[in-house]
Amino acid sequence: HADTSRKPSWLRAKLPSGSGYNAVRKLVDGHHLHSVCQSAQCPNLGECWTRGTATVMILGNICTRSCNFCAIATGRPTELDLGEPARVADAVAKMGLRHCVITSVARDELLDGGASVWAATIRAIRHANPKTAIEVLVPDFKGKMEHVDIVLEARPDIFNHNLETVERLQKPVRVQARYDRSRSVLRHAKSRGLTTKTGIMLGLGEEPGEIEQTLRDIVSDGTDIVTIGQYLQPTPQHWPVKRWVPPEEFAYWKKFGLSIGLGVVESGPLVRSSYHADEQSEKYTGA
Ligand code: SF4
Ligand code: SF4
Repeated sequence: HADTSRKPSWLRAKLPSGSGYNAVRKLVDGHHLHSVCQSAQCPNLGECWTRGTATVMILGNICTRSCNFCAIATGRPTELDLGEPARVADAVAKMGLRHCVITSVARDELLDGGASVWAATIRAIRHANPKTAIEVLVPDFKGKMEHVDIVLEARPDIFNHNLETVERLQKPVRVQARYDRSRSVLRHAKSRGLTTKTGIMLGLGEEPGEIEQTLRDIVSDGTDIVTIGQYLQPTPQHWPVKRWVPPEEFAYWKKFGLSIGLGVVESGPLVRSSYHADEQSEKYTGA
């Protein structure tokens, strides 16, 4: 078993610095918003915030689910914050983003899984920022397409839902989720004419043949954009890192993905769903 206790050099991220970083921090804090950059302990925080981009997390920072790879706290979520869509829209305007990424925790206890708040947030952002491309990274809404439709009707520019890992590892890694259900959500969004996106992490214990199959499944679902990044263990209680995947392997999967028909593959150790999301989606948003 390889020693995975020490991070390889290619995972060392830049430290946050500069006025861009401070401005983003002030906006997120001042608008009482949560950023997934902070909650997920993202290694790119320094770089992204210095560039003036952040991923806003709506619907609170307590999740009804308990995925084994995720740093976000599990529990009983607090009440709904009905002022949040307007504050998100205002923060996006103040950051001057031409591409924004919004995500949320899973709110399985709500009747619509939070879909109506999602739709209100998309509409508020669009109203205040008509030129900004809106990317949403959504939960699976338990596969209830009538709830997914509430989000789709607000017409986000990019509809992202992460498969996170290969089929065999879904159960241990994404306890309450299912591979086929997540795929059907992505296919449903595609059938409604949206640009779709998904992502997987490597280093969780998946085999090369399983990565290949996952990418083939993604192609067959018609998904346009794929992100592939290294899994990092948020705390010792979380799923262990089985392997540090070297940059060359990420490059290989990018080439492979493009060769089987994916539109955009962003693949590298530090790649996250929202890493350079503006550049990944230029082809689709025209931004
Ligand atoms: Fe935030 Fe995404 Fe950048 Fe990480 S990659 S800091 S989550 S915007
Ligand atoms: Fe984390 Fe999302 Fe899983 Fe909740 S549903 S534990 S936020 S990955």
